[in-house]
Amino acid sequence: MDLNYSAADDAFRAEVRAWLEANLPADISSKILNHRRPSRDDLVRWHKLLAGRGWSAPHWPVEYGGTGWNATQRHIWDEENARVGAPGVLPFGVAMVAPVIMKYGSEAQKQYYLPRILDCTDWWCQGYSEPGSGSDLASLKTRAELTADGKHYLVNGQKTWTTLGQHADMIFCLVRTDPEAKKQEGISFLLIDMKTPGITVRPIIMLDEEHEVNEVFFDNVQVPVENRVGEENRGWTYAKYLLGHERTGIARVGNSKRELGFLKRVAKQQQKNGRPLLEDPLFGAKVAALEIELMALELTVLRVVSSESAGKGPGPEASMLKIKGTEIQQMLTELMVEAVGPYAQPFDTAYLECEHDHAVTGYDDAAPLAAYYFNYRKTSIYGGSNEIQKNIISQMILGL
Ligand SMILES: Cc1cc2nc3c(=O)[nH]c(=O)nc-3n(C[C@H](O)[C@H](O)[C@H](O)COP(=O)(O)OP(=O)(O)OC[C@H]3O[C@@H](n4cnc5c(N)ncnc54)[C@H](O)[C@@H]3O)c2cc1C
Repeated sequence: MDLNYSAADDAFRAEVRAWLEANLPADISSKILNHRRPSRDDLVRWHKLLAGRGWSAPHWPVEYGGTGWNATQRHIWDEENARVGAPGVLPFGVAMVAPVIMKYGSEAQKQYYLPRILDCTDWWCQGYSEPGSGSDLASLKTRAELTADGKHYLVNGQKTWTTLGQHADMIFCLVRTDPEAKKQEGISFLLIDMKTPGITVRPIIMLDEEHEVNEVFFDNVQVPVENRVGEENRGWTYAKYLLGHERTGIARVGNSKRELGFLKRVAKQQQKNGRPLLEDPLFGAKVAALEIELMALELTVLRVVSSESAGKGPGPEASMLKIKGTEIQQMLTELMVEAVGPYAQPFDTAYLECEHDHAVTGYDDAAPLAAYYFNYRKTSIYGGSNEIQKNIISQMILGL
């Protein structure tokens, strides 16, 4: 296993770095680098710029508009994006529903949806979780019944935690089409237009006062039968295929490296006992321990990338990346709040939303950090909670 970059890899890095530096809008990267909130328009604008260069879906097959990059190149791409504060492309279309459509969708679905995902004509959201059906997803209850003429499904029920569903044009949903069958066997996979009558989106405001997730209600929503992906009652197979794609890339090493740099900068500015906080033995030891964990995670990611380059798909090791990656992300936010102390206290939401240029504290770096800390509590829950990832590791790797 060779974990070193080749000369061709270095040339590739130089090419993407130059393009990112020339094309990433400064107003967008400044929000990401300073923990402020990109708007819907920012995310769409960046997605379209990438699409214009042919780089909005690097992992797609070339025939659908992908790049043909190998696993190492995709890893370099992720790292370079993180380094300069690019917001990334939302996963729901490009990384989640698209692979399912490519593998299981009809020709008509491929022709219609894939180009619209590639250039962000449609904003997608994910309708999997329901109240009471998160970790135990197969227990979901949202019901879809065929109409008498067999042309539509009538959908009734509720989804929850739907990320950025308030902006979405389309939602992909798991629905129960056979309530009599064993729970995994009665599920189908539907693509639903969010403008269909009978859909209501209600915000859930989280600890950080951000409107990032929603409840979505379906009240006699008519969905054309052509919007079912694959066969009726085979949706669980497609759902699991999608979840495999959701967990890779979740380690976010590049982002954590950038945030570690931010933490060190802030901790150098802060003083404790007449010297920079970073030189305080206790605080410095915590930062050093975190940096070691991050270096170890990076090596693990490179091992996974190397075996992917050798043709092996990511297996249960994706669960290890998810757990370690999110623990590191959360620890970074904890140390940032610890570093700035009381300056993180004022909850300056308007500043986060870019409604004024400077924080009420006068300390712009610190103002978003409490919200950032609260926001990152989610990372050990979404994408399959870390406890569930540990179950996967114990079953698939340890064989327990
Ligand atoms: C910010 C955020 C965004 C999200 N976005 C989306 C989205 O866009 N679309 C979507 O469909 N879903 C989304 N989710 C939902 C997410 O997938 C679920 O929250 C997650 O799967 C956990 O399910 P739950 O919330 O029902 O918790 P539960 O399943 O009720 O779990 C509660 C606790 O029990 C633990 N637990 C449960 N079962 C076991 C077990 N067998 N062994 C050990 N421990 C267990 C869990 O780890 C957790 O700590 C999002 C969640 C969050 C927080």
